[in-house]
Amino acid sequence: MNFLEERILKDGVVKEGNVLKVDSFLNHQMDIELFDQMGEEFKRRFEGKNINKILTIEASGIGIACVVARHFGVPVVFAKKSKSINIDGDMYIAEVESFTHKTKNQVIVSKKFLNEDDHVLLIDDFLANGCALQGMISIVEQAGGTVEGIGIAIEKGFQIGGQVIRNLGYHLESLAIVDGMNAEDGSVEFRVYDEDK
Ligand code: 5GP
Repeated sequence: MNFLEERILKDGVVKEGNVLKVDSFLNHQMDIELFDQMGEEFKRRFEGKNINKILTIEASGIGIACVVARHFGVPVVFAKKSKSINIDGDMYIAEVESFTHKTKNQVIVSKKFLNEDDHVLLIDDFLANGCALQGMISIVEQAGGTVEGIGIAIEKGFQIGGQVIRNLGYHLESLAIVDGMNAEDGSVEFRVYDEDK
């Protein structure tokens, strides 16, 4: 079991509706030492990749992305959620359905901060159905840039997103993959992974 899986077992709370609450260390109160370990691990897993930018999505991806970025020595851009449709042409726009809030948002990135020369690592806290990632992928594509890899803290392996993204051929690394969880007894089951990976 790795450091993040241990922490999920210790402090994560399983809620009804397939929601894992990790707000004591990941997406409300944030454990920066843990983020730093995550950055080190992503750096190892994406060793040799030519990455010059990190893209994430507000709000809960931002903290993780910033600490991860220290390990890659690159800037972070975050996709902003916007209710109004921007038609002035200065923005890349994608539509993202929120898993937790069940709402649709436009996410936008200024054309100033992403272009065809960019080799991008996408970072997010959770992967569930993959909508957030699909939106970010679309934005990098609109910019003509390259998605070099995708780093996720917690993938919910029983939802479709991971499979869809891997089938599209992306190099996706999730630090913890939850294959099952039970709100009644609070149990969390992780995918068994290869220690030597
Ligand atoms: P997706 O777009 O892959 O369906 O969902 C990803 C987004 O939904 C993440 O950015 C995350 O904020 C949120 N999310 C999805 N599942 C969970 C969950 O079980 N717990 C929490 N805290 N957030 C989740």
